Amino acid sequence: MSRQKELIAHLLDAFPPRAFPGEVTSHNCAECTAIRATLGGASWWSVPGSFIRQHSNHLPLLTQEAYKAFLPAWMCEAVSDPTGETAALLMVNLREGTFAPDFSQQESYAVIQVAKWIAENNGFGPEDPVNRESMARIMQKWEGQDA
Ligand SMILES: [Zn+2]
Repeated sequence: MSRQKELIAHLLDAFPPRAFPGEVTSHNCAECTAIRATLGGASWWSVPGSFIRQHSNHLPLLTQEAYKAFLPAWMCEAVSDPTGETAALLMVNLREGTFAPDFSQQESYAVIQVAKWIAENNGFGPEDPVNRESMARIMQKWEGQDA
């Protein structure tokens, strides 16, 4: 199994796909209406990669509950294309880690594995200063939440 497939299998284990019945976004603009139309009642696994690429910078528009439900969809797209825009923006979002405390240890572990793999495969190399700084901050935000 390729490392990409393995990471996606980890995501499926850590975040079993289920329909999200809650509020996707509380805002009312064209973007949020489109996001609501696609994500409302959906599971992360059913969200098309093309939708994620179109909305690569829209994770911050999601409610706290929706963020937790759909972050795996953005991670899955980033794993599929580690040099793409979704992966770059995901790293920025994970650095902020606003909702990291909501994630269990197993979920956080899956997030960290994805971030590490992106840092190793986004074309800049793991020694790149930005990758190093990103990983340091992501570890700080996402590691040991249950400790
Ligand atoms: Zn909006």
